[in-house]
Amino acid sequence: MTHTPRADVLIVGSGIMGSLVARLLRETDPSLEITMVDGGSAIGEAPGLHLHDLDDPVLWSRYNEQVATGIQGMYTGAEVVREVADSLTGIPPGMYHALAFGEDAEAMPHAALAWNAGGMGVHWTAATPWPAGDEVFDFGDPNRWAADLDAARHMLAVTPGAIGPTEVGRLVLDVLRQRYDGIGPADRQPQPMPMAVNATARGPMPRTAPGTIFPAIATGGDPAFTLVTGTLATSLLVSDGRIAGARLRRIADGADSELLADAVVVCADALRTPQLLFASGIRPEALGRHLNEHAFITARVLLDLDRFGLDRAALPLPRAGEFSTDSLWLPHNGAAQPFHGQIMNRTYVDDDGRPLAHSVGLSLYAPVESRPENRLVFSEADTDLAGMPRIGLEFGYSEADRALIGRALAEVRSLAEEFGPFDPATECALLPPGSSLHLTGTVRAGVTDDGTSVCDPDGRVWGFDNLYLAGNGVIPTAMAANVTLTGAVTAVRAARAVAARNTALAAH
Ligand SMILES: Cc1cc2nc3c(=O)[nH]c(=O)nc-3n(C[C@H](O)[C@H](O)[C@H](O)COP(=O)(O)OP(=O)(O)OC[C@H]3O[C@@H](n4cnc5c(N)ncnc54)[C@H](O)[C@@H]3O)c2cc1C
Repeated sequence: MTHTPRADVLIVGSGIMGSLVARLLRETDPSLEITMVDGGSAIGEAPGLHLHDLDDPVLWSRYNEQVATGIQGMYTGAEVVREVADSLTGIPPGMYHALAFGEDAEAMPHAALAWNAGGMGVHWTAATPWPAGDEVFDFGDPNRWAADLDAARHMLAVTPGAIGPTEVGRLVLDVLRQRYDGIGPADRQPQPMPMAVNATARGPMPRTAPGTIFPAIATGGDPAFTLVTGTLATSLLVSDGRIAGARLRRIADGADSELLADAVVVCADALRTPQLLFASGIRPEALGRHLNEHAFITARVLLDLDRFGLDRAALPLPRAGEFSTDSLWLPHNGAAQPFHGQIMNRTYVDDDGRPLAHSVGLSLYAPVESRPENRLVFSEADTDLAGMPRIGLEFGYSEADRALIGRALAEVRSLAEEFGPFDPATECALLPPGSSLHLTGTVRAGVTDDGTSVCDPDGRVWGFDNLYLAGNGVIPTAMAANVTLTGAVTAVRAARAVAARNTALAAH
């Protein structure tokens, strides 16, 4: 007789959020039986290691080529792929446009999803600005918020100034500081971008990835942890306000199985976490609603060397293994300066490696109102490439959003002109929705079960005793900045809540 496998905790998704949950649970209980499933399989030999840090030269150079635009959406390809593959078994692990995965995503054509072990966490740029102002969701407990944010920062190994500033980067920061003088507190002045990288004195800087957050993902060695890749959770086993486990499907041969679990944490991204809930018949009013993404305005200007008294030959070169010389941050600061600025600079060189020009890459992110009509709609009849309920994305900008985007376009233009001659027609663009890959809100947290949230502040799904959610979808606020550090706060909370639940159960 075969018996159904079981785990103390099942984690769905092996990205950054899943790995944070696994790590915190392991820190609280060394013998907790944790199983993590991911539909995708490893890129390269070990699951969950960042492509920037692999020894494989082919994967390494492909990663660097794709990431060098500094635009997340372009990583999946500048041209949006609409053609859907015939089957999942025929596609290699990696990033795919939601359209190419069979979702109805024309309203967010650049939206993409990870179909590989480690999720987006093996691809990401790792900029980790911290949330402030309207982005914060402390639910009335600022001390706990600060502690959870610190824990997230610590586990992501955030380094305050990782890439730069070089001497030229300092000049760029001086311009920004003068321009925004007097706006915001001291710690939110223009500064080097905090990054989840290991700053070393010289040489390449490894990125934080699922396999470094929780090393057992990449290297094994934890007898109570099981990683099952290439295996999709197709539905949760629901009975009387509890989750008994999950139904799984092995991608390679379509074999179905069940896994029992005492608690489940779904960390399957802002599109597929609500998709899995829908597929399981868990369909609260707020599911998929409040889909959000800040607007993405990108620009690039060549630094006027004469204006800044710079010698071309002395322009900074990037470290080996990096494409940019400086990664800088313009924090948003309320109504006076509502835009998040991510500034990635690079020096162009000739065939012999001699500097030709220096570009200041300016991206401004403008927050977008959180509205229930921006939402995901799941199909009862149609399925996506993975055979899951097809996701329809409904997304548009409000009048207030359009006005703020107009302000951001004017701001980026006048900012760029501070650095050199600038033609907004050719050097600036408002990118299509989905381009930042910073989707939020679709399984948002709230303090009461009033129809506007899917889970409580700990990520526990309303009406369920042992089902938790973590990730960017849980973020209820409109984000201007890159979202992953903020999303990580939800992983900290979910993991702590599961650990507390386990302790309480053990005491009975
Ligand atoms: C090129 C690039 C650059 C980026 N740069 C930044 C940046 O600088 N700063 C920043 O803040 N963010 C950045 N991001 C976004 C960041 O990577 C994500 O916010 C973060 O990694 C999301 O983590 P996650 O674990 O929630 O989701 P994911 O990484 O998407 O992981 C979800 C996992 O769940 C699996 N899954 C989904 N459904 C199922 C199911 N039903 N069963 C089993 N498994 C399932 C998927 O295969 C996937 O591996 C970037 C992303 C990319 C691609």
